[in-house]
Amino acid sequence: MPPHDLPPPPTWIIPNFVLRVEDLSHPGASIFFDCVKPKEALKLAVEASYTWLYTPFTAPTHVKTITLVLRPFDGVAYTCGTHEMKEINFSLDWIKSSEARARDEILGVLVHEVVHCYQYNGNDTCPGGLIEGVADFVRLHAGLAPPHWRRRAEEKWDAGYDATAYFLDWIEERCGEGTIRKLNGSMKDSIYRVELFEKVTGESVSSLYALYCEHVKETG
Ligand SMILES: [Zn+2]
Repeated sequence: MPPHDLPPPPTWIIPNFVLRVEDLSHPGASIFFDCVKPKEALKLAVEASYTWLYTPFTAPTHVKTITLVLRPFDGVAYTCGTHEMKEINFSLDWIKSSEARARDEILGVLVHEVVHCYQYNGNDTCPGGLIEGVADFVRLHAGLAPPHWRRRAEEKWDAGYDATAYFLDWIEERCGEGTIRKLNGSMKDSIYRVELFEKVTGESVSSLYALYCEHVKETG
């Protein structure tokens, strides 16, 4: 008999997904369809965003549709759209150039972009480096870090992307699981201030970053 007092598993609200491929004859399109099932890939990305930034009780419900547009362009991917209707543009050229590890790269980029659909940004006051760091923090925790990512001590804590993601990961380790979830939550209704770190962790971001850089230098 299964126990009856266990809470039910979390059920996340999955938005409507739309896929638009603007060049089906591009080799990146064939690689995409050979490597992932679009609906499953987008669902995984939404669930990763929810899992690392929210609880079933706090997950935002504003995103109604995510449209994934696959087309050739310089660069990797970007997200635009409205509060309810998000559009992720993903470069077919990038997918082609990542052929050797296309599945992980496609899923990793999708996780990063879908985080942008859901993360809080202090009413657009959050620095870009932290926005990108949070997106790559979720990618890292989803097990989709590219092989070249390394912990490194940059001059600034908010250098962005994987550099900031590993710093956030270290904060999560030091201050406990859910710390970055709290940091994200703290930017829901109030504007971003650097003191938010101290409020969430008990330590200022500059002293945390100094400790982190020491740790990186010691551990390589
Ligand atoms: Zn980004």
